Amino acid sequence: MRIAIAGCGQLARMVALSGWEMGHQFSFIADPGEGVDCIAGLGTICTWDGELAIAELYEALGSPDVVTIEKEHVDLALMEGLAAHCLVAPSPEAIRVCQHRGREKTLLQSLGILTAPFHLVEDASALIDAVNNVGYPAFVKSCEQGYDGQNQWHLKDATALDDLAQQMPSLPPLVVEGAVHFDRELSLIAARSVSGDIVLYPLAENRHREGILLRSEVPAPNVPDSTLEQAMQIAYTLLEHWSYIGVLSIELFDEGGKLRVNELAPRVHNSGHWSQDAGVTSQFSNHIRAITDCKPGSTELTEYAGMVNLLGRSADRNLVNADDISLHWYTKSIRSRRKVGHLNVRASDRQQLQQRLSEIEAALYPGNEPL
Ligand code: AMP
Repeated sequence: MRIAIAGCGQLARMVALSGWEMGHQFSFIADPGEGVDCIAGLGTICTWDGELAIAELYEALGSPDVVTIEKEHVDLALMEGLAAHCLVAPSPEAIRVCQHRGREKTLLQSLGILTAPFHLVEDASALIDAVNNVGYPAFVKSCEQGYDGQNQWHLKDATALDDLAQQMPSLPPLVVEGAVHFDRELSLIAARSVSGDIVLYPLAENRHREGILLRSEVPAPNVPDSTLEQAMQIAYTLLEHWSYIGVLSIELFDEGGKLRVNELAPRVHNSGHWSQDAGVTSQFSNHIRAITDCKPGSTELTEYAGMVNLLGRSADRNLVNADDISLHWYTKSIRSRRKVGHLNVRASDRQQLQQRLSEIEAALYPGNEPL
């Protein structure tokens, strides 16, 4: 089939590499000025600035059978326009909700799914009221365009609130969240096909540094049945609500066995990268299967699996050459805090996995210095 992907980053690269193996052909929609190094050589790249008619863009993309996304911040009118020509998966409606934290949290609440306590605010007095309501520390996030801790403020006290409130007329709509005192962060990657078949990957336990995912461990350790059931319930509720097509990723806070959704991503996710090397079917492969009306493949692990991100740095050759490690490099230039690749690690037991993850982390990020 012919598949177009909106976005040209590493997720587009890995989806396309996976789809190439199955014989699909790819094209990509780039925003003006967007870097395309990750997908160079993988298909036609069309830059869209809103000038070209959507029908012409569709033709320039090679009249794809399906359009998908690698990021939620895509032009919604474009997705809706393309949906008149072919399948857009996930649907523009699912993208519309997931690209706006306020809409996302409101939907989760209406479906009875727990989140952090939150308020949506658009002016300084609403901001002050909301923070006073949730208490300190408060997490303030822009509703749109925030990722990897960007466009976020972690308010520890009233002075920090005053500083932010003073900037308010120039700030976008915000969501104010109360702090969740979680024991750990988990994520669930799910896929639903055109025909409605659903598969769920094992829960991953994730650790962040400065708001950016640093490492994942799969399966998450010590997951009671009740936690698994909550996670499954959340995934099924959302997938069925949208009649979702493709991979949906769900970031969760585990607070004493109670799961709260932090964020949804209507796409493949960094915490599912382990599946490239220790999954019977990778998340990328399952995304392709789901959107091309194939049955999703098994989400079982072949071994214990982990992933460590390369944030603003490459990995030493000695580290990468180990038999239990696979390097995935995105061919992006290295900049501070930027995700430029990841290392997947496999192990025959949990203890070995945890030891290897700690060794890799210590080798890559010695001394726990700021990124
Ligand atoms: P986000 O961009 O929403 O994924 O937030 C980045 C990271 O900040 C999360 O992975 C958490 O570690 C932390 N965080 C975000 N929101 C909250 C919250 N309401 N309570 C506690 N920690 C949070």
